[in-house]
Amino acid sequence: MNALSPDAPARGRKRFQFDIRSAAQAAEQGVEVQGLRLLSVAPGEEDGSFDCAIARSDGEFLATLTILVSDASEYPSDHTFFCSSQDDLPVYVSRVTEAIHEDGSATIQRTLMRLLEKLAKGVATSKNAQSDDDDDEDVEDDDEIDGYDMDDDIGLLGAQPGNSKFDRSMLQRHFNEIVAYGYYPGYIPFGVDDFALSASLPAKSLVDTIPARALMAWDKQLLARAQHLTLLVSGLRGVYPFVQPDATFTQSAHFHGVAPQFRVGLTLEYKPSQADASETIRKYGLKEEYDAQPAPEPVEEPLFDDDDYLDEDPVAEENEAVNDETAEEAEEQVAGFRPFSLSSSLESLLNGHFLRILQLRVQYSLGWAGAEALLWEVERTQQPIGDIMRLRGEHIRLADATDKLLMQSYVLPADPLLERDASQPINILLVAFSYLMRRLTLCPRYCLVCHQPLQEDLDALKPYVCSSKLCTYQYYTLNRGPSLEYEICANPVTVDLLVSLAYVALTEGAPDAPLPVGMGLRVECRTAPAARRDSDGLFDFDKLDPHDMRVATTQLIDKLPPIADIKRHLEQPRKAGRAKPRLQDVDKTVPEAAWSVLRWCVASCTAHLEELQSEEDQVKNIGPEWKQFRFSVGAPDAEAKYRQAIVQAQTESRKAREYPSLYAFHGSPAKNWHSIIRHGLWFKNVAHGRAYGHGVYFAKDGAVSTGSYSMGAQSCWRNSASRVTSCVALAEIVNLPNKFVSQNPFFVVDKTDWIICRYLMVKGSGYVNPNAATTTPAPPSMYSYAPFTNQPPPPEEEVDNSIPWVPLDPEHPLTLSGKRIRIPLPTHALEKILAARRQEFIPVNYDEDDLSIFEALPPTQLPQPFDEDVVMTTIEDDWQHDPEWVQKAIEHLIPPPTESSLQATTALQRELKALLKEQKAAKSLKELGWYMPEDLIGDNLYQWIVELHSFDQNLPIAKDMERHGVNSLVFEIRFPAGFPHAPPFFRILKPRFLGFSQGGGGHVTLGGSMCMDLLTADGWLPSYSISAVLLQIKLAISNLDPKPARLAQNWDSPYGMQEAMEGYKRAANTHGWKIPQSFDRIAR
Ligand SMILES: [Zn+2]
Repeated sequence: MNALSPDAPARGRKRFQFDIRSAAQAAEQGVEVQGLRLLSVAPGEEDGSFDCAIARSDGEFLATLTILVSDASEYPSDHTFFCSSQDDLPVYVSRVTEAIHEDGSATIQRTLMRLLEKLAKGVATSKNAQSDDDDDEDVEDDDEIDGYDMDDDIGLLGAQPGNSKFDRSMLQRHFNEIVAYGYYPGYIPFGVDDFALSASLPAKSLVDTIPARALMAWDKQLLARAQHLTLLVSGLRGVYPFVQPDATFTQSAHFHGVAPQFRVGLTLEYKPSQADASETIRKYGLKEEYDAQPAPEPVEEPLFDDDDYLDEDPVAEENEAVNDETAEEAEEQVAGFRPFSLSSSLESLLNGHFLRILQLRVQYSLGWAGAEALLWEVERTQQPIGDIMRLRGEHIRLADATDKLLMQSYVLPADPLLERDASQPINILLVAFSYLMRRLTLCPRYCLVCHQPLQEDLDALKPYVCSSKLCTYQYYTLNRGPSLEYEICANPVTVDLLVSLAYVALTEGAPDAPLPVGMGLRVECRTAPAARRDSDGLFDFDKLDPHDMRVATTQLIDKLPPIADIKRHLEQPRKAGRAKPRLQDVDKTVPEAAWSVLRWCVASCTAHLEELQSEEDQVKNIGPEWKQFRFSVGAPDAEAKYRQAIVQAQTESRKAREYPSLYAFHGSPAKNWHSIIRHGLWFKNVAHGRAYGHGVYFAKDGAVSTGSYSMGAQSCWRNSASRVTSCVALAEIVNLPNKFVSQNPFFVVDKTDWIICRYLMVKGSGYVNPNAATTTPAPPSMYSYAPFTNQPPPPEEEVDNSIPWVPLDPEHPLTLSGKRIRIPLPTHALEKILAARRQEFIPVNYDEDDLSIFEALPPTQLPQPFDEDVVMTTIEDDWQHDPEWVQKAIEHLIPPPTESSLQATTALQRELKALLKEQKAAKSLKELGWYMPEDLIGDNLYQWIVELHSFDQNLPIAKDMERHGVNSLVFEIRFPAGFPHAPPFFRILKPRFLGFSQGGGGHVTLGGSMCMDLLTADGWLPSYSISAVLLQIKLAISNLDPKPARLAQNWDSPYGMQEAMEGYKRAANTHGWKIPQSFDRIAR
């Protein structure tokens, strides 16, 4: 049975009922005492009583007992229990049950345990008495049955007395708060009294706040499978809470030497297992040691010897490459607590600064941005905080004000510090996790190393470092940031392209070409004056002049092996226990600096280039000689600004409403792309063609861009696989051409917010058209050989309708050499990944350790969803129940379920009471969001009618409802006899929704039932209250992902029971959810 804190303040009837529930749950999980099993516990027919059934472990039924409490309001301290039974009890049993009142006041759990013990003794004695000696062994031999240990009992049923360093009820309160914020808390006990805590969120939920395309660019692993983003906090030494209301450590935390350590990673479950957690914490120690070294020493010889090298190497471990998964490695790679590309940066922020930022925030009533600004100011000036606040207070509060502006383009997580009770200890786990979510969401805006805001003008898509030399140095030498090994294995073609473009740019002397400065490179350079050599015969790269820097960099790139060779090396099979293959071991003659340059080529590119391998992702009619990359440059912020520009355009132009964007090509000489993909199209890149005005030039026919404007490369990295000759970008532009600088013969656009680059097309002699066979050449037509002229565009060819295409404005046809270009919806491929993620069901079954925390206090102590003392006030324009509408909806209702049980009846009475009470207490029905018409509560408790209403006015469903005069969604809820252990069945009676296949959403099945794991056998928990479920359903219907809920054209025709059940089963099967056993009986 799960632990209940003995100092729990709550008492009385509610505590009594709570204890019955928790005893019932314990019985369900299995309680055995010396050969006796507690089969079930359930509330009794009489108020203040409960029933329990007891059997022998071998299955023989013993007795059903009814236990009555003298006065439930006195429970659990001044009460007495009495026991009775309808059964004909053996004498030795009734002797025990009659004496139950002698045990005095104890909790239900304690009383049941004692009862079982005494009955077990009685069973044994009576067995002996009855059958002398032949078959008594099976009862007396404790080894064969689950032994019952007094010590265990105390451990399970109560916290250790005098354990003042651990306040279980505080942790429980904090766990519940974390759940309320939509995260999953976890409690991981270690050893005698230490523990770690975790908080997590299904990784697929990240797309609710961070654009999926950005997530994919930061780390493809994030959306690669069903998993959780998890924060692990260790070093707590068994102390909780360890911070006071002002965010400083408690006495106890000081006394026990608490030193919280934060780890950020991906886990399959909602928390890491105990083994994974301790492994992670152990590795943390190793990592810290490694980080503490300013520069890694040249690796000692033995480390190069793969065959003898058995120890784990923290560097290799950090850089763990996730290969294309082979079956053997797949499991290993997804198990455990796995870091991802941003883990080390986020961890250094949390471990190095989080608590300090939190303290400043609380002390000076700042926001996160203000507290961060204050901390950086303190560290920079080394002045007392008070002075800084006095002198620079304006500047610091400005950071908070700027932060508010950010919220227009970023969805930031809810801030728990805004709602907290300032007299209570801070819920550090919740605050840390929401801070982590905030920083993850905003990661491209901050330096990965020093964590300060980037001062760059352009919004990068991927996080990077600031221009401080120290940060650059640490970024490359300490591998903060994405793992190069991962990139090489996952995106070899992209890595090859980045290196090749850097080579072309540096060889051909492109102006503004970024160089690998600040990394502390020690290099050879054939052009630099020998006198500048240092004693080791090498040059300090940063001291070379720009020309020599370019020469030195290209010299280093020429020493790199082909990317495919590196990939093959990294992916070679390894024996168990051996370290993973390392980059440096590919070719030991390659200088260290060359690897650094490779790392720089990849990591300094904050754009995201994804090779499009599958035909359905590729732009059509581009020609097989071009390799296509999806190309994303701007941060989520840039995408948001682009969306705003579209919306604005749509208010001005009818055309923009129909075709929001135009597509056009932008060409530039090969040597410029190294810079363009780092800085964006518009960055100093208006060098040619000023004849038509100042701005970025776009061609409507790709032949123009791919011709003169994408001047071919004159040079090539010798190991380049691509052997790039030219590049051209395909961009999306707001469809408001009359606001362009010019629209003929080119589009010239000076508003950078109006441009989003979508594709990069690369022609290279090394691309031997691996896709030539799969890329469909344009079907021969009279136009395919026609030279580019101004003749009208060719007629539409037959279109593959399985791919959603971008609707292109016929007034501005997009062509390449006269052939019509077609573009798959850019979100198409991503949508497929997201759909796969959404369909995966991640069960969150809190384990016993967590349940022991959740159940530390009876629910009466939890924050209530409503305040009972609120005086009812009538709110103007509140939602009104319309009896006529509901009456029409329930006309064809089938009769209530016929199956019932005592347990379900009791639970339903309780639920109904609670629901009506909440409804009465609600200040406004609009705020409540649901309504249960009291006059429709029939004699049968197993069938309820509930309305959902007052959806957010901006939702399409709310607009549809308003247009059709639909007052509410009318639901039928049917309860099975297994309730509350089996889930109720929710279905909409009216109105009818648009089905998913017709473009509808909102988690409503074709039959009107709800498609939510919460309502299936796996997802349901007996502790869910109906009002909480109603809110979840409302949220599901309001969810715009993957598509918003809409009303069907025949919205007025009610759903039938049969289609609802079929819809539910179909949805459950699709998602792999378990259908409750008794599901079919619910319609009888
Ligand atoms: Zn920095």
